Amino acid sequence: MSSRSLSGHASAAANPGYRGRFAPSPTGELHAGSLLAAFASWLLARQAGGAWLVRIEDLDPPREVPGAADRQLRALAGFGLVGDETVVRQSRRHALYQAALQDLLDRDLAFACHCSRSDLAASGGIHRFCVPRTAQREGRAPQPAIRLRVHDDTAIGFDDAIVGAQSQDVARAVGDFVLRRADGYWAYQLAVVVDDADQGITDVVRGADLLDSTARQIALQRALGLPTPRYAHLPLLVDAQGRKLSKSDAAHPLDPADPLPALRAAWRALGQDEQALIAVETVTQLLDAARVSFSPAQIPQAAAGLAAMHNDPCANAV
Ligand code: GLU
Repeated sequence: MSSRSLSGHASAAANPGYRGRFAPSPTGELHAGSLLAAFASWLLARQAGGAWLVRIEDLDPPREVPGAADRQLRALAGFGLVGDETVVRQSRRHALYQAALQDLLDRDLAFACHCSRSDLAASGGIHRFCVPRTAQREGRAPQPAIRLRVHDDTAIGFDDAIVGAQSQDVARAVGDFVLRRADGYWAYQLAVVVDDADQGITDVVRGADLLDSTARQIALQRALGLPTPRYAHLPLLVDAQGRKLSKSDAAHPLDPADPLPALRAAWRALGQDEQALIAVETVTQLLDAARVSFSPAQIPQAAAGLAAMHNDPCANAV
């Protein structure tokens, strides 16, 4: 059966009202934290009978690792996690971001800004108005950044499916935020909002490190007249010492050739019942069993210990 989402994207999903996604940046190998986000977003999409998409967020060449995107996709496939639609790569979608930016500029909702980091140091990096610029005084005119005009008291509230009610005064917390950087690259906030809308994403499931970006994304959705998806922010993984795992942490590489231990560990980190996967012997069996017994209400709000993610033969001896 095929159905069509509101956004007009073809989808084989039984429930066109649910479209989830996993959107890795190719800044390193697929690691425990990214597998957790991929697996949880896949589980929630599958349980809803919806579609699950993969989008490569390759808009920051200085931070990218050559070949990482393809290795991430191959690793995901090794874990049985394959998107339902063609993988989208942000690096091929500049025209979409440019159109959104132009729309905001045309309506005076965005503006060019030459302020440098040091210009904004006095306000803690938060931009509320442009300040006299060293570069301009010295006759240098760097390419401006483009910022969203954030009005005072732009309080954004949303109800996160895992961490509950959230609110942020975007003007005070982050100010006029960047949409296109002074180095010419697109800011994550603009690209993610444009792509989530263009792909008809209804449910954003990702790590809690991005919780703080969500109010900005909602402000931008409102400025662009785009719908706001539902949000669910997963617990961050921490190492045995309770330290946050960095996104490109290569210290815990996953082995897609031996996928069951890492999937079982991610399942435990999601607070799920280990017994449900006790008898499985293949990735397909594991994903089938996981889909059936997945209980979103069990996902912990607090950081999940990486001890659960180690390929410890005892921990995974089920
Ligand atoms: N590309 C981002 C990352 O790898 C995730 C963006 C998102 O899920 O909104 O952290």
